[in-house]
Amino acid sequence: MTRGIVYLVGAGPGDPGLLTVRGRELLGSCDDVVYDALVGEELLASSLGERPVGRHFVGKRGGEAGSTRQEDIEALLVRLARDGRRVVRLKGGDPFVFGRGGEEAQALARAGIPFEIVPGVTAGIAGPAYAGMPVTHRGVATAVTFVTGHEDPEKAERATDWGALARSGATLVLYMGVRTLPDVVRELIAGGRAPETPAAVIERATHLDQRVVTGTLSTIADRARTAGVAAPAITVVGDVVRLREEMAWFERRPLAGRRIVVTRARAQASSLSARLRELGAEVVEMPAIRLEPLDPAPLYHALEKIRDYDWLMFTSQNAVERVWQAMRAHGLDARSLGHARIAAIGRATADALLECGLAADVVPERFVAESLVEALKRRHDVTGRRVLLPRAADARDVLPDGLSALGAQVDVIPIYRTVLDGDGAARVAARLRAGEIHLVTLSSSSTARFFVDAVGAEAARIAPVASIGPVTSAAARALGLRVAIESEESTIPALVAAIVASASSNR
Ligand code: SAH
Repeated sequence: MTRGIVYLVGAGPGDPGLLTVRGRELLGSCDDVVYDALVGEELLASSLGERPVGRHFVGKRGGEAGSTRQEDIEALLVRLARDGRRVVRLKGGDPFVFGRGGEEAQALARAGIPFEIVPGVTAGIAGPAYAGMPVTHRGVATAVTFVTGHEDPEKAERATDWGALARSGATLVLYMGVRTLPDVVRELIAGGRAPETPAAVIERATHLDQRVVTGTLSTIADRARTAGVAAPAITVVGDVVRLREEMAWFERRPLAGRRIVVTRARAQASSLSARLRELGAEVVEMPAIRLEPLDPAPLYHALEKIRDYDWLMFTSQNAVERVWQAMRAHGLDARSLGHARIAAIGRATADALLECGLAADVVPERFVAESLVEALKRRHDVTGRRVLLPRAADARDVLPDGLSALGAQVDVIPIYRTVLDGDGAARVAARLRAGEIHLVTLSSSSTARFFVDAVGAEAARIAPVASIGPVTSAAARALGLRVAIESEESTIPALVAAIVASASSNR
């Protein structure tokens, strides 16, 4: 009788862009997420957004000791689903490739819990791809084998016929720690694979700091150890490894290896993020601001005498949504506004109104308050009329002042305010302190102030700054920030060009 369900979802190998559309959709609507160590916090933060979602970490960090037992994970999934929750069981890569997803699906089936499987991009496909090695290639390899090595070589011998794999000629993709690599390599050579067969270890595949160590079957174990390769890493054995010389692309992008903070306070931030990502950077968007609803009582009060208002004016989509919610809570709908005129600033605001069955009578050409005041001046139905203006608490006075000057009587109802997003800022501050941020972009003086307020002066000073122009640079320096890059022109493309130029001169 419950609607509980478990989705076994593959998170992909690390790069958040490799989460499937279906996976993202489910993360955007689930009640609970159960995840392990291979799943990145950034991926979680960006997919879950601000919704209150139950988070259950069941992975091992820092060794076997802290790991949750498999049967406890299965019991947790069953319990949550029986409570009627929609649960995403998020697993690194693909849930059914060496992830024990099969056992979890069995446990759910046996408990009579509905479940669905959402495949993911497995590390054995993504790693070679990001390292520039096709796992099959005409004339080079016609088969590929995914294989896991057990930590216990005694068991491994019984589980895997290494001799057969050695003779198969297929590309071998080994999912396992580098510790077992010497044993496996020995088995493969003993089984008949040529010691000079090319091999590569890919560490933290698809992550910003992905590393590739190449060698041959006889040298790879030593080389990986000398290079200090750590988990997670996969090993590729076969002639396809050689194709990397021609096909490597990941580390050749202009901003490869750079982790850059983009503050999201302004509209152009998303285009900046997209450009930086295209050039190979990992972008950390700082969800700098958040909308916080205010006490709805004044709005409720205004809605009770909604017939007294001749005009309703909306300056944001968010205001439309909040007013509509309040109306619905009072049993009102579009008909109760039939007598009133409606003005909206911005296309998105007008569209949000249309979704509620309300077509705005006035939408000014430019999406600012000044432009609305201009448009209203040309009309003869504002003077002496009553206007309801529900909006942000911290908005400018241009619109109420302009309306008053036109002889209207305005009731401004503050319904929400913008506040600093503490969570997002705390995460960025921690990464700054850990030395994980290589650059912070600042696109205005207010962004600079805002960034320092959000993460704190001490953390803000850690990473160098790329500034959009001299005014922003001066503001940043006054705040004690280190301006390493300044754009020649105050535009986003010029800022990006300056960042690329600096990266290539440092290379
Ligand atoms: N279900 C996962 C695999 C889990 S087994 C998948 O489909 O990818 C864990 C092993 O996967 C690790 O020991 C490592 O060999 C490999 N692995 C997972 N993510 C990796 C990554 N980003 N880079 C390299 N290897 C990875």
